[in-house]
Amino acid sequence: VAALALSGCAGGDRGGDTDGESGAAGFAADSTIGIALPDKTSENWVLAGALFEEGLSEAGFKGDVQYAPASNTVAEQQNQISAMVTNGAKVIVIGAKDGKQLGTQLQQAADAGVKIIAYDRLIENTPNVDYYVAFDNFKVGQLQGEALLDGLEQRSGHGAPWNVELFSGSPDDANSAVFFNGAMEVLQPKIDDGTLVVVSGQTDIAQTATQGWEAENAQSRMDSLLAANYGDKNIDGVLSPNDNLARAIITSTKQAGKDITTVTVTGQDSEVESVKSIMAGEQFSTINKDTTLLVEQTIKMIQQLQKGEEAEVNDTEQYDNGVKVVPAYLLDPVIVTKENAAEAYQNNPNLLEIVTAAG
Ligand code: BGC
Repeated sequence: VAALALSGCAGGDRGGDTDGESGAAGFAADSTIGIALPDKTSENWVLAGALFEEGLSEAGFKGDVQYAPASNTVAEQQNQISAMVTNGAKVIVIGAKDGKQLGTQLQQAADAGVKIIAYDRLIENTPNVDYYVAFDNFKVGQLQGEALLDGLEQRSGHGAPWNVELFSGSPDDANSAVFFNGAMEVLQPKIDDGTLVVVSGQTDIAQTATQGWEAENAQSRMDSLLAANYGDKNIDGVLSPNDNLARAIITSTKQAGKDITTVTVTGQDSEVESVKSIMAGEQFSTINKDTTLLVEQTIKMIQQLQKGEEAEVNDTEQYDNGVKVVPAYLLDPVIVTKENAAEAYQNNPNLLEIVTAAG
């Protein structure tokens, strides 16, 4: 076995071999890699699928990229993952639709020796998740909280106290609580000292949740909040966990006759329409989580596993999934406002063009 592992190493092989032979404890370099993605509600998921197809094939693997369909999504994603195991995938990368409902499928994967990488969203309540790769979700939340405070200062036209409302993501996504907790670490002290007033009183994550990350759910909650609480009051800011929801919140606020240029709405994902909105002075901020980097990092981890190595991680503390702390590789998210957009998107020609066109 040692000889096999060393074959072709004369002169110090740095491990880039893609000759189709499996290493000591790895697997064949042309193996099938399953990619199970949740849905297409955010641009980053759509882009990830395309980048995985391309990147895996460039790396010599066979990529099997699947999205859970819009209906019966959880059950369909479970079926897709089972099928990937049956079809001989060596690694399965999962952006979970519901990270608490994959226990059976991941046991099946573990029994077959398949490695599991949770992608972007943690998978909970199972020992059978080997790695987690994501942008630092807690930091995303902190950046959103800080951006909300900055925007209030800059746009509201008055000093504290400021009237704000809070939104969080879908309860079936482990990220939602992490984003919200990161933001509340910054915002809660300001609520406690009276700088911020949540006029509706809805500060609990259960009250602020947006089922399925669906824009229409955020829009109807915002409609109700405005109707019930802001008839004769200004709304100064809204914590929105992502861009898709931010745009729904902005639509609702405009429809209620409020001047959106004085309202601070946060976001996440650097979606095209939101970058346009930021440049037009409507949405205040977004987060750049460069999907290209996240997919690249994931493929790097797969290549390490292929060679029989451990995948490299940089965090072994933060992501307790209820059964174990999942070793994670976390990338750094970047806050983006109109002010730093040109710099933030310097490596993204698409978004840079929008920023440049807006002057
Ligand atoms: C992702 C966000 C995304 C949201 C909705 C989260 O898990 O981290 O980037 O906006 O899902 O798709």
